[in-house]
Amino acid sequence: MRYDLHCHSTRSDGLLTPSEVVRRAAARGVDVLALTDHDEVGGLDEAREAAVDAGIELVCGSELSVSWEQLTIHVLALNVDPRHPELADGLERIRSGRDGRARLIGESLAAVGVQGAYEGARRYVTSDQLISRTHFARFLVEAGHAQEVKDVFSRYLTPGRPGYVPHAWADLDEALRWIHAAGGQAVLAHPGRYKVGESDMQRLLAEFRDRGGDAIEVLSPSHTAATVARFAAHARAYGLAASTGSDYHGPGESRLDLGDLPPLPAGVVPVWDRW
Ligand code: AMP
Ligand code: MN
Ligand code: MN
Ligand code: MN
Repeated sequence: MRYDLHCHSTRSDGLLTPSEVVRRAAARGVDVLALTDHDEVGGLDEAREAAVDAGIELVCGSELSVSWEQLTIHVLALNVDPRHPELADGLERIRSGRDGRARLIGESLAAVGVQGAYEGARRYVTSDQLISRTHFARFLVEAGHAQEVKDVFSRYLTPGRPGYVPHAWADLDEALRWIHAAGGQAVLAHPGRYKVGESDMQRLLAEFRDRGGDAIEVLSPSHTAATVARFAAHARAYGLAASTGSDYHGPGESRLDLGDLPPLPAGVVPVWDRW
């Protein structure tokens, strides 16, 4: 069975609609797909219908934005009931903070001479509340401030750069509570991306596990072979399961296409073993 448990549609910052994502996954041999839009479950009804037609299994998911100490981390909710009120209300709360943050990003870019960024980013938004740094990145490329989306992040949209605005997302406890209330599992997404040293990473993993977290995303386009091995070892050591996901955002914007993932390393417990 081929699993891909992390991807995005136009309900957040992806380029394909939920049904296009599902059809593409099916055509590429994915058997079990989780759609995990940022802070949003609104694409899942369309995705489920498309999955029935395409003959693949859809796992209801979301990727929650979470503040942990000074860091923004992402926690995937997998196999949730998207209608559970605690989860739905929590996601609504995170989403509702995005517009104010985006206006501040626009102001901070204006201060370094990039005019009209908020309005420019808005033109790329495909789901009203879901304005993200990705939409700013697309605008900044269009306006000639960078060649490619990934250059925009290193120059403008990451901590220490003009255009980065700190933001209070959900806290870890709340995010885990919402996910578990909705019957799902909580997966620490792409841990290799967080800019922390090994001792802080171990504190994060211990806290995540102690507060009820279920799994680590071991396979991710953000991870090198060494990072995969490191987090597979952490999964075993902390008693956490392991997950896998392409984090696909659309043609031309992603390192991995849907389903483009090797098998999980030996010795880890796949997150789907507990479903
Ligand atoms: P936000 O939720 O608004 O903070 O935006 C986060 C999104 O920006 C991520 O989900 C990615 O899609 C995108 N992103 C973050 N860092 C990078 C990067 N270095 N290169 C390309 N895309 C990135
Ligand atoms: Mn994204
Ligand atoms: Mn993420
Ligand atoms: Mn993602």
